[in-house]
Amino acid sequence: MSAGTKDYYAVLGVERTASEAEIKKAFRRKARECHPDVCNDHDAEERFKSVNEAYDVLSDHSKREMYDRFGTVDPRMAGGAQDIGDIFGGGFGMDDLFSVFFGGMAGGASRRARTQGRDMAVQITITLEEAAEGVAREIAVNRLVPCEECGASGSSDGSGTSECPDCGGAGQRRTQQRTFLGVMQTVSPCERCSATGHVIESPCVECSGQGRVPDRDHVTVEVPAGVDDGNQIRMRGMGEAGFRGAAAGDLIVTVRVAPHEFLHREGSDLHARMPLTVTEAALGTEMEVPGIDGDVAVAVPAGTQFGDQLRVRGAGMPRLRGSGRGDLIVHAAVEIPRKLTKEQREILGQLAATFGEEPRATPLDRLKEWLTG
Ligand SMILES: [Zn+2]
Ligand SMILES: [Zn+2]
Repeated sequence: MSAGTKDYYAVLGVERTASEAEIKKAFRRKARECHPDVCNDHDAEERFKSVNEAYDVLSDHSKREMYDRFGTVDPRMAGGAQDIGDIFGGGFGMDDLFSVFFGGMAGGASRRARTQGRDMAVQITITLEEAAEGVAREIAVNRLVPCEECGASGSSDGSGTSECPDCGGAGQRRTQQRTFLGVMQTVSPCERCSATGHVIESPCVECSGQGRVPDRDHVTVEVPAGVDDGNQIRMRGMGEAGFRGAAAGDLIVTVRVAPHEFLHREGSDLHARMPLTVTEAALGTEMEVPGIDGDVAVAVPAGTQFGDQLRVRGAGMPRLRGSGRGDLIVHAAVEIPRKLTKEQREILGQLAATFGEEPRATPLDRLKEWLTG
C-alpha cells in the first residue's frame, strides 16, 4: 500500500480541520459513491480501497496526529494496524465486501444469508509468552454497524414498511421458462425488497434504507492461555450488523503465534536446545535453561550424550482444554571445542592415554604401510 504518498484529506474531500463526525460522514458518502453498482469506473475498486485507507488513518486519533505531523503513517507505529488483516485483499473478495456494505443481492444466496449480518475474519499475531499467559488484544475493525439515524429500521420517518408490490410479500419470485426439457419453473429472490417481502416507504438517507452503515471501531479480543497457532476465536454477534436490525454476524479471530527465539512448541510441550561443553556432559552439572516464564533449573547427569532429552515436567505450555501444563524437553547439544590451547591438547592427550587409546593410523600412514609391506 502506498501509505504516505496520498493526501488522505483530499481522498475523503474534507478540510484538514475536519471534525471526527465530518470525517465519518465523508467516508460514508465516498464509500457509497464507489459502489460498483453505482459507479462503473474501472478504478472504483481502487478508489474504494483508498477511501478506506484514508478513513483508517484519519479516524484514529494517534494515526491522524502522526499523519498531520509527518505526512505519513509508519505502519510499525500504527498500533494494531498489522493485526487488522487486509480484509480487502485477504479472505474477503471485493464482491463480498460490497454486498455486506450495501446489501447487494448476489444471486443464489438464501433468504437468511441476505438479512443476517455476515461473519468477518481477522487475524492477530501474538508472542509465545502471550500464548502461555493469555492476553487481551485490542483490534480495529472496519464493519457495518446498526444505523443510529433510523434505529436500524432503514426508515427515515418511522413510517415502517409495506408489503412488496413485486412479490406480494413472499420475498421471492417464480418465473416460468420454456426450454427443450419442457416448462421449467425457477425461484429467485425478489430484488425490489431484497427478498424481505417488505419495502420501506421513505428510506433513511444515512443508510439508504439498509439499517446499517460502515464504521471503524475497536474490539477487545480475549485470548485464552494455551492458545495455539491457527486457533480461532469466534466472537458472537461482533461481525457485520444485520440488514434492518436482523441478527449480526460473528467476528472470527484467527490467532497466529510468532516463532520463539529459543523455544519450539509441539502441542503443549516446549523444546529447547541446551549447549553443553564436553566436560559438563561427561561430569554432569546443574544448568539454567530459559523457559517460557523464567529460567528453569535442569540437572544434567554425568555421561549425557549429544541428543539426549531431559524432561522438566510442567514447564511447558498451559493446556487450552483440561488442566495442567505440558513439559519442557531439553535437548543436550554437546559441543566439541574447535580450538584448543597447547595445554588443553596435552591434557586431552593424557585423558586419551587413560582410556588406552592409541593414536589412529592416518590414510597416509596406511599408504606407506602398503607400499613398504
Ligand atoms: Zn438509517
Ligand atoms: Zn419483493
